[in-house]
This record gives sequence, C-alpha cells and structure tokens, in this order.
Amino acid sequence: VAESRAAVVGPFSGPRAAWGELLERGAAAHRGVHWDLHDDQGVAAIARYVAEAVVAESRYALVIGHFNSAGARAALPVYKAAGLPVLLPLATAPRLLTDLSGTALRWCPDDLAQLVELRAAALEAGHTRLAITDDGSTYGGMLAQLLQSLSGGTTSEAATRDDEATALVVCGTHAGAAQVARDRRAAGFDGALYFTDDCAVDEFADLLGDASANAWVARLRGGASAHVDSAFRTAAAALTAEPCRRGPALLTALRVVADRTFTPEGEPVPDPSAPGWEVVPLEAPTVASPTRAAGRSRNGKVYDVLVVGAGVVGAACADVLAQQGLRVGMTAPSVADPAATRYSGGLVRAYDPDPFLRELALRSYRLAWGADGGDVSPTGFRQTGSLVLLGEDNLAEAEKGVAELTAAGVRASLLYSGDLRSRFPGLATQDVVAAVWEPGGGYADPPVAARGRRDRACAHGAVVVSGRVRRIEEQDTGPLRIELEQDGVWASAVVMAAGSGVSRIAGHQLSALAVDAAPRTKRIRYAFFQHADSRGMPTIADLVTGVWGRPHHSGAAAGAYLTGRPSDEWDVPPGGGDTVTTAQAEFIRELAATRWPWLAQAQFLHGRHGVDLFTDDGRPFLGPQVPGSRVVLAAGWSGSGFKTAPAAAELVAARVREVLE
Ligand SMILES: Cc1cc2nc3c(=O)[nH]c(=O)nc-3n(C[C@H](O)[C@H](O)[C@H](O)COP(=O)(O)OP(=O)(O)OC[C@H]3O[C@@H](n4cnc5c(N)ncnc54)[C@H](O)[C@@H]3O)c2cc1C
Repeated sequence: VAESRAAVVGPFSGPRAAWGELLERGAAAHRGVHWDLHDDQGVAAIARYVAEAVVAESRYALVIGHFNSAGARAALPVYKAAGLPVLLPLATAPRLLTDLSGTALRWCPDDLAQLVELRAAALEAGHTRLAITDDGSTYGGMLAQLLQSLSGGTTSEAATRDDEATALVVCGTHAGAAQVARDRRAAGFDGALYFTDDCAVDEFADLLGDASANAWVARLRGGASAHVDSAFRTAAAALTAEPCRRGPALLTALRVVADRTFTPEGEPVPDPSAPGWEVVPLEAPTVASPTRAAGRSRNGKVYDVLVVGAGVVGAACADVLAQQGLRVGMTAPSVADPAATRYSGGLVRAYDPDPFLRELALRSYRLAWGADGGDVSPTGFRQTGSLVLLGEDNLAEAEKGVAELTAAGVRASLLYSGDLRSRFPGLATQDVVAAVWEPGGGYADPPVAARGRRDRACAHGAVVVSGRVRRIEEQDTGPLRIELEQDGVWASAVVMAAGSGVSRIAGHQLSALAVDAAPRTKRIRYAFFQHADSRGMPTIADLVTGVWGRPHHSGAAAGAYLTGRPSDEWDVPPGGGDTVTTAQAEFIRELAATRWPWLAQAQFLHGRHGVDLFTDDGRPFLGPQVPGSRVVLAAGWSGSGFKTAPAAAELVAARVREVLE
C-alpha cells in the first residue's frame, strides 16, 4: 500500500530552530507516512509563502505546523482554500481557528490560559508587584497586552517599570526574551523572572546564562514534545489506516483517533481536572533536545549545505548529501524558473564521445538504470536499446568507449554499416560508418526521476526551503547568506544547480571561470510524430547530422516517436513549454526524415521545448566556483545533464565535503 505524504512546517533553520527540532523528532518517531520538512524559519512573513508552495505540490494529505501562531494565522487560509487538514501542535494564539470551519485541529490550550496560569503562579509565590515587559516582537507585545488586560490594568500589577516590582514577566520569543532578561539583570533587577512558553526550550537556559537564577517558565502541561508527539501519532494512525483518505474524511478520522477531543471549531476541549499549562522553574530541563539526547551537537540554525535548484541535478545532489548525513536545505521547484528537467527528452546511455562525460554517463548508468537495465524503477526507465550513429571522425573514440563500457560490465558493441542496415531496416544509414549499440540503453522520465531523488533526500532529513534565490553572499569565514525572495537562510556551503537560472542569481562567479567563453543558454526543441507503433524502435543519438530521437511508450503520445534537431537559438531566457509550431516541427522533420524516411509522411502530433546552459567545451562546471569558495557549481550541462546527473551528484558531494573541511 502506498504511503501517504504529509508536510511538516516549522523553523528548521534560523534563531528558532531549537523548536523545529521538536517537529523533526516527531517525524522521526512515527513511521508509515512520508514527512517532508518545510522551513518557514518561524517567521510570519515567510509562512504564507511556504503554505502556497506546500499547496502547489498537490501531494500532501495534511500539514503539521506551522509552529508559531503568527505564521499559522498567515498560512491557515491557504490550507483551508485547498481543503488540506492542518494539525497545530504548538500554536497558542487565541482565536486562531475562527473562520476556518473546523479544517484545523489545535492540540494545545491557548495563550489566554497560559497567562492566567503564569499570573496565578507569580501571585501564589507572593509577587504582588508584578511588572510586565516584552521583547519587542509582535508576539511578545500581544502577550504583554493580554496579560495587562487580565490584570485589569491596575498599576500595581501591570507596571511596565520594574524598579519596585519583585517579579518581572518577560513575554516574547526565546532569543528576544533572553536578551531582555539579561539586560534587566545587568541593570540591577534581582527579583523573580517569569517567561512565556516560547522560552520552554532547552536552549533558553544557555541563552540566559547567569541571568537564569530565580527564573520560571510557562510550558504546556507535560511539555511541548508530548503535544507534538500526540499530533504526529494521530496523523500517522489516521493515514496508515487508510492512506488515500483526504479532506473532510481525514479530518473525521483524525478526530476519532486523537487522544483528546476537539470543539467543532477544532479547539481542544479543556480537561477540567488539570490546567493545560504549568509554570516550572527554569533549572529543570523543560524540553529534551533530540540532539542532546543523542549526545551529539549541531548548529541547527545553519544548513551544512543549501542546494539551489530542484531539477534532476539539484535533486540528486541533495539526495547524496542528505544520505551522507549532512544537514541539507533544498530549494523548491520554482514556477518562475522552469527546469530543463521538466522538458528533457530523458535519453539514457552510457556512451558519450567526450571522455569526461562518458565517465559520468557510465557511472550514472550503473548507479541509476542498472548495469543490465530493463527494470521499470521510479525513474520511469524504459529499456529500448540505444544507438549512437557515427561518422568517420567519431570511430576511434567510439572504439575506446566501447572497450571502457565493456570493461565496466555494460553491454556495448560497435555495429558496422551492413549489420546496422540489416538490424534496423527502417533507418537510412548510407552516411553512417558505424554505431555504438547498447542493448541496455533507453529513456527515463526526468520529472519522475527528479521527484524520486527529492523524495529520498526528504526521507534522509533534507528540508525544503521555499522561494527563489536572489543572491549568495560569501565572506572569507562564517556561513554564507542565501538571500531569498522572502528573507534568507544561512548555510556553510552552497551547491549551485540552478540550471539556466544560475546567471540570474547574484553573487555567483560562473562567468569568471570561463572569461573567454562564458556559458550561454540555448533552446532545445523536439516534436512527437505519429507512428503505427514505435515501441520496438531504439533510442538514437546521431553524431553525423545532430538529430536524435526515441520511442514513446506511455501517455497521450504513446506509440509516437519523439524527434529533435538542434537549432541555433542562443541566449534565450530560461523557460520551456509544451508547444511547438508547425513550422518548427517541419524544421525538425526536414533533417530527421533523412535518417528516418517514414517521418517524411508522418503526422506531427505536438512538441516541447526547454532551455539548458551550454559551456564552450560541453563539459559542466563541477566544483568550487573559484578556489577557496564554498559555492560549489553543478551547472553547464549542455544538453546532456540528465543521463549524467547520478554520477555528477557523487562528484559534487565530494567537493562539498572538501570545502566544508
Ligand atoms: C528539451 C530538452 C531535452 C533534453 N534531452 C536530454 C536527454 O535526452 N538526455 C540528457 O541527458 N539530457 C537532456 N537534456 C538536458 C538535461 O535535461 C539538463 O541538462 C538537465 O535537466 C539539467 O538539470 P538541472 O537540474 O541542472 O537544471 P534544471 O532542470 O534546469 O533545473 C534548474 C532548477 O533550478 C531552479 N532555479 C533556477 N533559478 C532559481 C533561483 N533563482 N532560485 C531557486 N531555484 C532556481 C529551477 O526552478 C529548477 O528547479 C535536455 C534538455 C532539454 C531542455
């Protein structure tokens, strides 16, 4: 039975990443569902953006998160409109679920109850002169105001000056509240400190340092992790029982299996026997950090590596790096920068006339399509056999290549013209000297292959970072800042796999590498032509004329033959499309029919076009953009990046580890 997929949205980097760890731990603890982590950094302005990206993926059964209330408030209408159920384990703002028609379920009691508990605890401890302050954040200000209104606005309790107070309540986010408290201690305040629940995270005591004596913090009863765990357990139970359940049916199931009851609006029904909040001394560990528990330390605020680009190359890089245990962020597919992968022909073989590309193609072939090919894997691979047609000039290199393939265990041979004619009578090969024949070659489905690698990266903990990258800022030391459309993230290294989009990102130095012949974009176009049944035909790359083609086994054009012809469309903007004009199809037909004579009369069905980044010598840039840089390039594929991506990713990962060291 296929497993369901759920989006988990929270702060997986940035100052609030300590909270994201709770969600990561929840995801790791509950099997049976694919949990994809999406980073909103706990920033409200990013949350809606992430929600739109999550919805655009159209593959999630539900969402767990957003972690913080302001982010949740911005994102919830987006999920409601898409009919996606949302589980909110830790968002505590009052009236968050109003107008959502029960499409979200909240696990925790709200801030009003928290402040009542906090105030009662302070009064019980004898603090009748209670001062209130906040960390300057919107969230902190809202809590402080709410607490003041609970105190009836009386100056004795609601004074903002703390010189006469015996206790100070600091409302806000954990990093901001720690700063405020440290400042107050430095200014001489030695009374009790009370903090709101965002501070109920292990890291807070470290941030507070010497100021942590005589400090108290509000937390969800039993700790926040218990609520997170319950939400994950509930989602996993509902989705594993019936993986196809969606929308209202899923919401009903969630309500049934949860360990608590909800109002029709989705709020948790309070337990009259135990308040939902408790106030605990700060010395006691509040939330067990998963990394501490595991005895390892990591800087969760910064990615080890951010992979820019969600095409087949970026996806493969993210997958390899995540499998090697690095903390990987990977950008989401961007509609504004369509990937070459989306339009790629997907032709696959181990032979390439260029020795370096051949090494990559051969290794990729063995990694991804199997030394013998033939298995229909999640890449959509079809073994059709592959021919590379050769002219006189190509023969010597082909002989070397076939020897290399054979030595590596990939079946390959040279077919000379007589043999070629008898085995492939439909091909006109009078100008062909020989061909490299790989019975295990064929074609795959590039978007499926890229998706598969991204999914595997997610399964190994890679986090999705939404938004287009505008700029990379690299200093001599310290992490790199990656400026996104919304805010930015930090990483110790960057893999630049943005295809033709690289040139639009500021701060890269691709052109500096190739001053004399800067890489250029070029359009690639192909058309589908009707055939009675092309399914027995091989995949072909023709080094004599430049045309190329393959059969097509599935979908609307099943049975048709896909045929491309190079054209001189240089320096075009990145992009692609599912249309080809009749004139463009005739341009392809004109030359292709000299190789496939039946094409002269075949009906043109439709076509596609995309753009790839071409280098002077046809070889990609794979390594630091300049010596010493921690921006590692994986770009400049010159129309051959699909069949080489699996091995290229291994190389890039090795380069990343070198620069990190
Ligand atoms: C029509 C066509 C047919 C092809 N046929 C074949 C073939 O048969 N065999 C073969 O081996 N190769 C083929 N290729 C080449 C191959 O498809 C490409 O080389 C390969 O897909 C490149 O993958 P990539 O991941 O590097 O880049 P892309 O697939 O272009 O992906 C780039 C990614 O970067 C993202 N991006 C761009 N700018 C930004 C930004 N500012 N911020 C964040 N993200 C950004 C994009 O959204 C995208 O996700 C073909 C290419 C085309 C266009």
